[in-house]
Amino acid sequence: MTMKMHLGSLDELGDHICREISIDSIQFVRRNSQVTLDEGTTLSIEVFHGGDHWAVTGKGTPRITTVCDRCLKPAHLELSIDFSVEVPRNSSGKRDDTGDDQQKQDPGTIPEVDYEHIMDLKPRIREELILAVPVKVLCSDECQGLCPVCGQDLNVAECDCDTEFVDPRLNSLAELKKEMLSDSEKQ
Ligand SMILES: [Zn+2]
Ligand SMILES: [Zn+2]
Repeated sequence: MTMKMHLGSLDELGDHICREISIDSIQFVRRNSQVTLDEGTTLSIEVFHGGDHWAVTGKGTPRITTVCDRCLKPAHLELSIDFSVEVPRNSSGKRDDTGDDQQKQDPGTIPEVDYEHIMDLKPRIREELILAVPVKVLCSDECQGLCPVCGQDLNVAECDCDTEFVDPRLNSLAELKKEMLSDSEKQ
């Protein structure tokens, strides 16, 4: 499945199409942790013929799986995607840089449309997904994380470590374990 839409049927101003497109082939990495989209995840894409541009909107609540920042076990969460972008109709996706772009916000990645009127949405959707992942991901709000001394998963069992005066060098134990985990997941 591709994240491309054929715009050949949009001939006149106001014409529009709406499609559910499959996005579960997208993967990316955040803070050494792989992020995968749940199978069958789709996004609802609508494209309007807006005269000199295509008005594109994308909406959906894709579910992802990544790694909990505290205990390093799989964490599942739902993202909220809701974007809109204007794509100039007479170009391959690049805006001309003349004029008043200082006061404009960064419009994000503009999807490219090829000579066969096919719009490639993947780069933009990927960008939206990366931005939608929260800075801190937890498997649950109550996650106890790992013991900074021995690495014990405190959700499973307690340990006898004295964690009140932890050697700061040992704080990196959790980080190290995480790196080892993500290394072993690389194909
Ligand atoms: Zn956790
Ligand atoms: Zn411990």
